[in-house]
Amino acid sequence: MSVRETFPKRRTNPSKSEKGKNYQKHKPDLEEDFNHCCGYCGAFDGFGYTRTYFEIDHFVPKDFLMNSGSQIGLSKYSNLVYSCRFCNNNKSKHWPSQRDDVYHNGSIGFIEPCDPDYDNHLYRTSDGGILWHTPLGKWMATIAFKFDQRMEEIKLLWNYNKTRIAIEKIIEELINYPEDSSEYKEIENKLNPICKKHYFLQRQLASFYNE
Ligand SMILES: [Zn+2]
Repeated sequence: MSVRETFPKRRTNPSKSEKGKNYQKHKPDLEEDFNHCCGYCGAFDGFGYTRTYFEIDHFVPKDFLMNSGSQIGLSKYSNLVYSCRFCNNNKSKHWPSQRDDVYHNGSIGFIEPCDPDYDNHLYRTSDGGILWHTPLGKWMATIAFKFDQRMEEIKLLWNYNKTRIAIEKIIEELINYPEDSSEYKEIENKLNPICKKHYFLQRQLASFYNE
């Protein structure tokens, strides 16, 4: 399974200018293009804004761009990634290639999160964890992003988002029928177990972040 629920796709014409240093102006476009999920770990941004705060990551890091004389500007849209704070912070100090046109050497470095190759290196397990297919995937997961140290949280956020999406789908189906119809009642019955699961995941997440 893919690490991200929906594969992110960056627009080619961002609605704000790619000139200047104020890259924050791209956040609404990025949120949409990354489907409100972290480009790296796939965490959904709709839970607990204070603890799972979402940021803009520079794929080729900001410090490297500023200190290397690179031609890639800070607001260059194709270099921006919608990222949870944990992935952004963990990635920050890593850029092994020390070049702006080389992302990895096959065993260390990064795959750009909108590149279909991302899923060749990392995958989602059936219980919502993240594992790797390749040495490069292992490097990203364990050395850079430290998914292994955040596995419990990663699983909770993934399953929470899965139940959220499932509830949304059922409700969209439900509203097509009058409340007193047998179809309505049948669909409504499907909601009970999934809502219960969603509720308990939310409680688990809340206690996880309060620890
Ligand atoms: Zn993340």
